[in-house]
Amino acid sequence: MSTSIASEHAVPSELRSFLSSPKQLLINGRWVNAQSGKTFDVFDPATDDVIAQAAEGNSADIDAAVVAARAAFDEGPWSKMTASERSRLIWKIGDLIEENADQLAQLETLDNGKPFAVAKAADVALAADMFRYMAGWATKIEGNTIPLNVPYAPGSEFHAYTLKEPIGVVGQIIPWNFPLLMAAWKLGPALATGCTIVLKPAEQTPLSAIRLGELVTEAGIPDGVVNIVTGFGETAGAALASHDDVDKIAFTGSTEVGKLIIGAATGNLKKVTLELGGKSPNVIYDDADIDTAVAGAADAIFFNQGQVCSAGSRLYIQSGIYDEVVAGVSEIASNMKVGSGFDPSTQMGPLVSREQFERVSGYLQAGLDAGAEAAAGGAALDRNGYFVQPTVLKNATPEMSVVREEIFGPVVAAMPFENDNELKAHANDSSYGLAAGIWTRDISKAHRLAKAVKAGTVWINCYSIFDAALPFGGYKQSGWGREMGHAALENYLQTKSVCVNL
Ligand code: NAD
Repeated sequence: MSTSIASEHAVPSELRSFLSSPKQLLINGRWVNAQSGKTFDVFDPATDDVIAQAAEGNSADIDAAVVAARAAFDEGPWSKMTASERSRLIWKIGDLIEENADQLAQLETLDNGKPFAVAKAADVALAADMFRYMAGWATKIEGNTIPLNVPYAPGSEFHAYTLKEPIGVVGQIIPWNFPLLMAAWKLGPALATGCTIVLKPAEQTPLSAIRLGELVTEAGIPDGVVNIVTGFGETAGAALASHDDVDKIAFTGSTEVGKLIIGAATGNLKKVTLELGGKSPNVIYDDADIDTAVAGAADAIFFNQGQVCSAGSRLYIQSGIYDEVVAGVSEIASNMKVGSGFDPSTQMGPLVSREQFERVSGYLQAGLDAGAEAAAGGAALDRNGYFVQPTVLKNATPEMSVVREEIFGPVVAAMPFENDNELKAHANDSSYGLAAGIWTRDISKAHRLAKAVKAGTVWINCYSIFDAALPFGGYKQSGWGREMGHAALENYLQTKSVCVNL
């Protein structure tokens, strides 16, 4: 079966003026060029064309941004505001995102490749919601009073309490798969807790973060509170991670770079949270509602071109229904419209970059060479842009790279299992532990497996459900800490104990 191709690629004319002006760095409330004067090309993944130039920040620009963030934290109006005033400004960012939803979604489609409807309904809507959810928390950050019983101070009376204080200047490094949403996941809790920020977007997708910087300023967030430095990982990112005046670094991206971040943070022992890769098992039992499970399994891997850290990339199917499920997911894959995200009929866009296209193509070839068989897809599309076919691999075995490593593309390995014992061993046979899916009508079985699987998120009879209130993060090598929910606030707070002798 061949992949259907959607062909229309009409870049909205409204974006022209935004794209034609130079994309600069936001430092201390002003848009400035990189000190080196250098810029880098931003590509349209649907065509391989250059669409904009962005300032190439390096360590000198990171320094300037950290100085601004430090001044805003120590002396600026931000630190003197009440939580309620902060909350209102953060809420306003959510409103402005919603007011500019079309433009932000267009930028995501242009820069990342994802279908416009998905960008608007998922990325942009979730980003607005994240700021509003965190605006609500800003006024609810509280310490405790603690009764003391100090054995070596008999007769003394103490009043002891804790303060929850912002951690300080925060460096945030984000990836390209959900450019705006990852910025929102990072900025939301940092702002709610009163931190100041230097954000480094991914070099593949800087545009929506730059637009978000404009909206943050428009919302009235004071100068220096949010600084945005575009540039490359090895230069700007590494300078931020190792900076001695940064109190905390929050990173989302590959496990490999996550390990580098930990090393870079040791200089001043800054606090670190990491949201890293995954190779998530998605399990379909033979008592599941098969149609729903098949559609869910396809969505779990093909959503966002498979460029999702929690993608259901290892599909375990109980043996009695294996052929039926593989045929069903393969049929969906083969019928998917792949093409420009601006074509309303498109269901899957291009991969984000040439490099990612080559990585995914390499994994596909390695899987086929090792003996896996493509039940659907299996190759790149013969056209400009970074398009690959939605792919279902059969006959994959546990030692193959397509089963062990994160492909970060629309490629699922479908494997049969007989019983729960065998399944649990396979499901947990991974260095990752980000997410898992379970499809069954038996609620006891579902909850038993949810408990047994080593993953930070488990979806039962659904997949890829994200909400600002639901903590997200990894077991094992999928990360440290949790994003979203009130758990995310802890990443940006520290506890001070105060003890008073009455
Ligand atoms: P990456 O980890 O290299 O990049 C993510 C971010 O880290 C970018 O902003 C990048 O500029 C920055 N960075 C890179 N090197 C750095 C360094 N030495 N110090 C500080 N910052 C640095 O990810 P990638 O190359 O864009 O993608 C490679 C693979 O990473 C993907 O194939 C996928 O497996 C994984 N990935 C995972 C996620 C996720 O959400 N967990 C997101 C993107 C990529």
